[in-house]
Amino acid sequence: MPVAHFSGFVPVAEGVHVGVAEPAAVNIGLVVGTESALLIDTGSSPQQGAELRRAAEQAAGVPLSAVVVTHWHWDHFFGLDAFGDLPSYGHESLLQRASDPEVVALAKEHLVEPTSLVGPNRPFSLARVVDLGGRRVELVHFGRGHTEGDVVVIVSGSDVIFAGDLLEQSAPPSFGPDCFLKEWPSAVDGILGLVDEHTVIVPGHGVPVDRLFAFDQRARISALYGQVDHLIRQGVRLNDAFEAGEWPFDEATIRAALPLAYAQLAAEGVTPRTTLPLL
Ligand SMILES: [Zn+2]
Repeated sequence: MPVAHFSGFVPVAEGVHVGVAEPAAVNIGLVVGTESALLIDTGSSPQQGAELRRAAEQAAGVPLSAVVVTHWHWDHFFGLDAFGDLPSYGHESLLQRASDPEVVALAKEHLVEPTSLVGPNRPFSLARVVDLGGRRVELVHFGRGHTEGDVVVIVSGSDVIFAGDLLEQSAPPSFGPDCFLKEWPSAVDGILGLVDEHTVIVPGHGVPVDRLFAFDQRARISALYGQVDHLIRQGVRLNDAFEAGEWPFDEATIRAALPLAYAQLAAEGVTPRTTLPLL
């Protein structure tokens, strides 16, 4: 299989670089210290992971000492096998994902050998610090959101944060079946609590954004959930919801997210009230 294209790394701050890996146009980060460097996300296959590793070592000028995966989705995670000899960080939930039959099936779909699906060898539940020499990088799980195991990467001294897919610039946020709509805004609040107007926030997909963008997208995610909650309490059923609501994202995004939002609210005990037929 040919390796999907990688753009090469471009600096977004001193010692902090971002490149774009196809086919999903995912942002790959590189943080360089005086002694070593950290790669953020691994691409969509072990072959691409190996290519990213070569590109990272060339751009960094110091050895790559660690890699972190922001979440389990194929375009971020399936390249991890190329880094088996390095410390690899990620949320502890990635360990189950690596052997999950659904993820194995997804790997086959993407022509990735299921045996190459591996979890991080330094899994964590809340936070870790990686020292690159003259620069510390904090890896933090602010709670469930885009997935159950999103990790945000905070680069000390350079005012850059890698948000993974908790934020997306090139498209609306990806509301997959494994997201947690209600909790997602609080995870973004974790990011917002750390940034000022100068902070560069690198989303999972698209160009770097600022605090206002992150605040706006957080508000939209929250509004989507709030709107569905409101409609359900008014007795609006799923099939009528799109027409009945006012929405913070485009129609295709909303139509895809609605069944999920209804199911997640139902799990919270919020279901449309059935009215007795009037005789
Ligand atoms: Zn994702």
